[in-house]
Amino acid sequence: ATPTSIMVGTGRGAELGVLFRKGDALQALKDASVVAVDKTGTLTEGKPTLTDIEIATGLERAEVLARIAAVEAKSEHPIARAIVEAAEAEGLTVPAISNFESITGYGVAADVDGVRVDVGADRFMTKLGLDVSVFADTAARLGTEGKTPLYAAIGGRLAAIVAVADPIKETTPVAIAALHTLGLKVAMITGDNRRTAEAIARRLGIDEVVAEVLPEGKVAAVRKLKAEHGKLAFVGDGINDAPALAEADVGIAVGNGTDIAIEAADVVLMSGNLNGVPNAIALSRATIGNIR
Ligand code: ADP
Ligand code: MG
Repeated sequence: ATPTSIMVGTGRGAELGVLFRKGDALQALKDASVVAVDKTGTLTEGKPTLTDIEIATGLERAEVLARIAAVEAKSEHPIARAIVEAAEAEGLTVPAISNFESITGYGVAADVDGVRVDVGADRFMTKLGLDVSVFADTAARLGTEGKTPLYAAIGGRLAAIVAVADPIKETTPVAIAALHTLGLKVAMITGDNRRTAEAIARRLGIDEVVAEVLPEGKVAAVRKLKAEHGKLAFVGDGINDAPALAEADVGIAVGNGTDIAIEAADVVLMSGNLNGVPNAIALSRATIGNIR
C-alpha cells in the first residue's frame, strides 16, 4: 500500500468511527480471512440479568439467594451484578462476609456467617469435588436457552443452580451477516459454558465456537484459529482480551471497552458495536485494494 492510500483509508475510517491506531492495520485487515469475537460485552450487552433459580431439596430459596448475593457483592464480574441486583429487587438482607476469594475463570467464594459459600461454573464445583449431576437436566435446558448456568455450594454441599442471561446487542446480527457477505469466517471465543455459547452462536449464524476457555487460553485459541484459517482479526472489550488482541494479526477493541483492551488493539471501534468490523474490512479492501 502507498502512504497516500493508507492516509485516505485512515481518514475515511475516522469518519466511520473506526480508529486505526497503527497504519499497517489497514493493510493487515484486507488479508483477514477469519474474525474471532469475544462473546460477553462484544456480541452481547455484557449486562446479564438473573433469570432462574432452583434450590436443592430442604433449603430455603430466600436464604440461599441472600448468601449467594453476599459473596457476589464483592465481585466485579457482570454475573455478580446480576445476582446482587436480583437479591436487592426482592428486598433480601444480604449478610456480611469475610475471606472473599475470586478464582478467575471459575467463580467466587467467601465465608458467610461462618459458613463457606462457593459460586461459579460447573468446573468450579468439580474442582471442589462436588457432583452437579442432580441439576443436569436443568443445566442442559438453561444452556439450550442461551442462559449461563451457575452453581452455589453452601458449607461444601451443592445448594442451587442459578442462571443469568445476557442479551445479544441489537447491532450484532447485521454485523455478522455483513462479515459473511464479505466472505469471512466468524468464530466466537468465550469463557462461558459450551451449550450456552453454542446456542448463541446458532442464533447468530457463527461458524465456529471455542467455549469454556480460561483467560490464559484465549491466546491459544487465537493461535489455533490462525493455524486453521489464516489471517485473523480478534475483537474484544475486556482486560482478559488484551493478550488475544496482541496475538491476533489485527486486534480490534470495542470503543466502550476497558482501557487495557484499547491499549492492546490496532483498531478501535468508536461506535462500541461490531458493525465497525465489516466497515473497516470493506474500507481496507477499497482503499488498499489494488494499489500495491
Ligand atoms: P467470560 O467473561 O467469557 O464469562 P470469565 O473468565 O470472566 O469469562 O468467566 C468464566 C466463567 O467463570 C463464567 O462464565 C462463570 O461461569 C464463572 N465465573 C466467573 N466469575 C464469576 C462470578 N463472580 N460468579 C459466578 N461465576 C463466575
Ligand atoms: Mg468481554
